[in-house]
Amino acid sequence: MLGIIAFFIGASVGSFLNVAADRVPDGRSLIRPKSYCESCERSLAYIDMVPVLSYLWLRGKCRNCKAKIPLRVAVVEAATGALFLSVYLLYGFGLDFVVVSACLALLVVVSMTDLERGLILDVMVFPAIVLLLFMAPFWTEIGFPRGFLGDETLIASFANSTLSGLGAFLAFLIVAMINPAGMGGGDVKFAAVLGLMVGFPGILISLWISVIGGGLIAITLILTGKKNRKDTIPFGPFMAIGTAAVLIAGPDIIHWYQDLATAVSGT
Ligand SMILES: [Zn+2]
Repeated sequence: MLGIIAFFIGASVGSFLNVAADRVPDGRSLIRPKSYCESCERSLAYIDMVPVLSYLWLRGKCRNCKAKIPLRVAVVEAATGALFLSVYLLYGFGLDFVVVSACLALLVVVSMTDLERGLILDVMVFPAIVLLLFMAPFWTEIGFPRGFLGDETLIASFANSTLSGLGAFLAFLIVAMINPAGMGGGDVKFAAVLGLMVGFPGILISLWISVIGGGLIAITLILTGKKNRKDTIPFGPFMAIGTAAVLIAGPDIIHWYQDLATAVSGT
């Protein structure tokens, strides 16, 4: 039952993220006007704004003009719902749920703007950096271990988070300077966000997943002729997927890493 509530909180947040991804890049207000059909511009009734379910019972069409509702709307709602559900299953409801879910919501909306417009927006990245700096000392408190080799104090958490953010920022900056066509400034700033978010060693696991995933997708797209070697593929969504994986499976991965490091240093 609580799991269903977690899913619907996530799906509702996903519904908001859909609106944000459409409006924020154009500098439009998030609040006004309220959601409307892109085709006939009629405001949606509340019954048409129930996440996921409205899409299903309207069969993906506007009640008024029968224009197709983009499938992305329902996919993002369902995916965000599933993410929040997995956060609930891992952490239960509490401060952890709020923090980790908020991080995942940011990853979803940045992925959308990068996929659809090739943009990672400062207006999303900079507030995230500020909030994550405030959060930096407290990750070990909420059950997301930062501490390396069991050294889990507020200072260790803060140092780990900020150094991971800085490290990821510098690593991406170097790549962007070597290959400006392949990586943009948005990716570099986003890397800082992700380092702050998952710390070390989480950020390494996150980047490893995103490089492997991005590489596989790029090779597949080139082999199937959908892209050629000169096309660029947005890297932000892969960074987001790697980081989401760490946020959801992270404590397990990090405990495993700590055990391994302890075993290695013990011999
Ligand atoms: Zn319509």
